[in-house]
Amino acid sequence: MPLKTPEEVAAATAKHPCYSCDAQHKFARMHIPVAPECNISCNYCNRRFDCVNESRPGVTSEILTPAQACDKFLRVKSKLPNLSVVGIAGPGDALANWEQTRESVELIKRRSPEILFCLSTNGLMLPQYAPEIVALGLNHVTVTVNCLNPSIGASIYRHVWYQGRHYIREQAAEILIHNQMAGIEYLAGRGVLVKVNIVMINGINNNHIVEVVKKVKQLGAVMTNIMPLIPAPGSVFENLPQTSMKDLTILRDICQEDIAQMRHCRQCRADAVGLLGNDQAHNFRAGGEQAAP
Ligand code: SF4
Ligand code: SF4
Repeated sequence: MPLKTPEEVAAATAKHPCYSCDAQHKFARMHIPVAPECNISCNYCNRRFDCVNESRPGVTSEILTPAQACDKFLRVKSKLPNLSVVGIAGPGDALANWEQTRESVELIKRRSPEILFCLSTNGLMLPQYAPEIVALGLNHVTVTVNCLNPSIGASIYRHVWYQGRHYIREQAAEILIHNQMAGIEYLAGRGVLVKVNIVMINGINNNHIVEVVKKVKQLGAVMTNIMPLIPAPGSVFENLPQTSMKDLTILRDICQEDIAQMRHCRQCRADAVGLLGNDQAHNFRAGGEQAAP
């Protein structure tokens, strides 16, 4: 159920390894890769690139049905009793695959009502699904917001598929940004803990990120996670330089004045399993050996 009291918020945060820096050493999370499709196209993304040694969002070695995801959850839970969070983080967008996402959450919840759920989305479909997200009792939602300005968005997004139509350039970015803002405000206003991920792309949105942070704070987000651009092979941005830790730290320090900063993000795969610093995804894939706790 949505978190209502400060005590409920504190309890949920204390067991989520991404929302609490301390929890990362104690509690494990698993991503269930049940969401293969995406409804937008980011210039930093190439989900076709799949390598077991690769670790970044969007990468997975398997796609699961909701029933398979529930089976995998039960296997992981039996080996990792400190598992506290199940997340849906792609490899596409959780809301572009809403039926699979919803069914997976319902199946796992039935078997393990105490588990926290976490969902990552580009936010395009939030106006449509936010009420169901609240009704399902998803406590943590991450929305990736890279800009507020459609002219900047036109350099980051190639296209958006929305309500059966294809949009490009500023028009695509405008729809996306509008839906992201409306969705964040709706969820935060109903007790969902909203984290906002921002990809820092030097020369494109780096000078705009402080403004993004202030805006999402105003809408009720509790934390931002400013992440480096990882130039994925085959993506439009493959030849851009990776954002340096120095640039990232300077920006996070500035934004810390406004809102809590996540600084321990590992940019996990869409099928990550385990503690943030000790991923065991390879041990739980179909055919993989099961990890010792
Ligand atoms: Fe890729 Fe995620 Fe962007 Fe979709 S929203 S194109 S999966 S990075
Ligand atoms: Fe947490 Fe970052 Fe990994 Fe998501 S990608 S599970 S926010 S550490």
